[in-house]
Amino acid sequence: MPDVLHLTLPEGRVPVRVSRKARTRISLRIANGEVKLAAPPGVPLAELQRILELRRDWIAQQWRAAPIVSEALPERVSLFGQALRPAPYEGKRRSVRRDGDTLWLAGAIEPAEQRALLAQWLAREAALYLPARTAALARHTGLIPREVKLANARGRWGSCSSAGVVRLNWRLVQAPVAISDYVIVHELAHLQHMNHSAAFWALVGQHCPEWQARRDWLKQHSAELFEIG
Ligand SMILES: [Zn+2]
Repeated sequence: MPDVLHLTLPEGRVPVRVSRKARTRISLRIANGEVKLAAPPGVPLAELQRILELRRDWIAQQWRAAPIVSEALPERVSLFGQALRPAPYEGKRRSVRRDGDTLWLAGAIEPAEQRALLAQWLAREAALYLPARTAALARHTGLIPREVKLANARGRWGSCSSAGVVRLNWRLVQAPVAISDYVIVHELAHLQHMNHSAAFWALVGQHCPEWQARRDWLKQHSAELFEIG
């Protein structure tokens, strides 16, 4: 597991990836918008942090000159409203591992691959969470769908068919739980009212009194939640 240090530049706080592959010398380079530091295994992190501070001006200069990668890996990705920082590192097998608020991405080199890996991970989290949460809310509200499926439609958070199949966009796992709960209750309410009548909204309001604020939140944050995948 690589260590990550941080350095504050005029542009903001920059992550510094530390590799322990160097034998004798400590070296610094800036590539793909990242600061990389190679050091021998025995050098303490505090010492490396001190070196970073000493070289701050040089790093800031290199950082500004580094080319911006288009289609870059996003700096943050959310899970249940909590911001996580994707941190790619070299690795043979593709994998994603969460460690606190860091998301270690292994085995994907190109930013496009890294984005795909992130989207896959989020979709997997959605598959673990959304159907189970829907089952719990169905029990709670007495609105029982025939089936719950994950969907991938752009610009659409959920749907409910006349056959009683509820579909939920996997990207909802990025939003706070209160928000995805609103979408789930909304779709479950369609099992009783296949429209957006006053009776429908009254039923939604019965199980989710803050539905208006949650719907507004979703409208405001839609673009950023659809950025991935
Ligand atoms: Zn609706």
